[in-house]
Amino acid sequence: MKKKVAFYTLGCKLNFSETSTIARGFTEEGFDRVDFSEKADMYVINTCSVTENADKRFKTIVKQAQKVNPEAFVAAIGCYAQLKPEELAAVDGVDLVLGATEKFKITDYINDLSKNDFGEVHSCEIEDADFYVGSYAIGDRTRAFLKVQDGCDYKCTYCTIPLARGISRSDTLSNVLKNASEISEKGIKEIVLTGVNIGDYGKGEFGNKKHEHTFLELVQALDQVEGIHRLRISSIEPNLLKNETIDFVSNSDSFVPHFHIPLQSGSDDILKKMRRRYLSGLYVDRVERIKETMPHACIGVDVIVGFPGETEEDFLETYHFLNDLDISYLHVFTYSERENTPAAIMEGAVPKKVRQKRSKMLRGLSAKKRRAFYESQIGTKRTVLFEGENKEGYIHGFTENYVKVMAPWNPELVNTLHEVELTEIDESGLVRFNFIREALFA
Ligand code: SF4
Repeated sequence: MKKKVAFYTLGCKLNFSETSTIARGFTEEGFDRVDFSEKADMYVINTCSVTENADKRFKTIVKQAQKVNPEAFVAAIGCYAQLKPEELAAVDGVDLVLGATEKFKITDYINDLSKNDFGEVHSCEIEDADFYVGSYAIGDRTRAFLKVQDGCDYKCTYCTIPLARGISRSDTLSNVLKNASEISEKGIKEIVLTGVNIGDYGKGEFGNKKHEHTFLELVQALDQVEGIHRLRISSIEPNLLKNETIDFVSNSDSFVPHFHIPLQSGSDDILKKMRRRYLSGLYVDRVERIKETMPHACIGVDVIVGFPGETEEDFLETYHFLNDLDISYLHVFTYSERENTPAAIMEGAVPKKVRQKRSKMLRGLSAKKRRAFYESQIGTKRTVLFEGENKEGYIHGFTENYVKVMAPWNPELVNTLHEVELTEIDESGLVRFNFIREALFA
């Protein structure tokens, strides 16, 4: 009887791409992959260290698996497993905990899947995580997350990712291009480039600290790959998003006009305390350059509220900075202390209530910005990639500049690209449209 394995992934696109690659390894070993809600012989949980209450979430997911099959073998991998291996191993029902280097060799650590009395830990010092493993995930058959880079050499004072994922290192350009072709041969229309600090692409490509290629060279090379209709840059540090890259994207047929750029704070004092590698002025330059070359571009912004020492003035400076900036939406993160980070022992902790109030204000601003951006696109002609899920009788899709549209469910539209004219924003905040032209790419 083929053994069954199920996966649960927390966190970022990078985690999803790695789960997908690890799952392919199980299939090659003769396992059947089943949904996490189904009975399986083994459950693998790919953890995240950034998720709020990561520990509570993890315990709930383990309980969920045990409820379906109390005999099943449970393994924990990912960033939280690298940071807190013993803590996860002590959770009732956990049999195996693997760190950043071991996770890709997980099938080497399992034998007859009989449960262990206590979680077995195979974890390394993060310094040993200096090699690169490529991966990609095919989401809902319409877009793929392609990992191009891992780890980070930056030292932002609130962040645990370098502790969980190690130094900055990149896939070889030839391997990225091979993966991209492989994905497009599967009929996937959109590739999302993912990593930890993808703007640092090229570093450690051949296991050393040198930059063999730049991010711009990666973008230029991917732009030449046949059969890829859309390339989307997931998130990129402002100081690593060069004007040349912005200009190249503005003239590219495959790279879409959508940028997600972490800001974190609009106050230069707070940016310095965060040890970010830019000040607000550079951020304004990037946004202006994007909007000059691509007025219809969508710009998403990460921002943290409640960082230690953030006064009401600092917060209002951030609020007005964002309010005045021509951006399209915000991802708002409420600061929470992370062990072993410099910020966790900084003075001036902001009361939780104040953090929540500030977070609420910025989420309100994000809704206003997204509405204004969508309104600015009404009447324009765009291309929509339709997704594969029937959501209560409707099909959703995204334009190249990340406007979310909806239409009555039609299975023939799945994974097709259509030229449309955006007509109105409906009561759910999504955009309606008229079809202009049948599928550009069947
Ligand atoms: S750039 Fe900063 S916030 Fe981003 S992963 Fe690196 S250390 Fe963390």
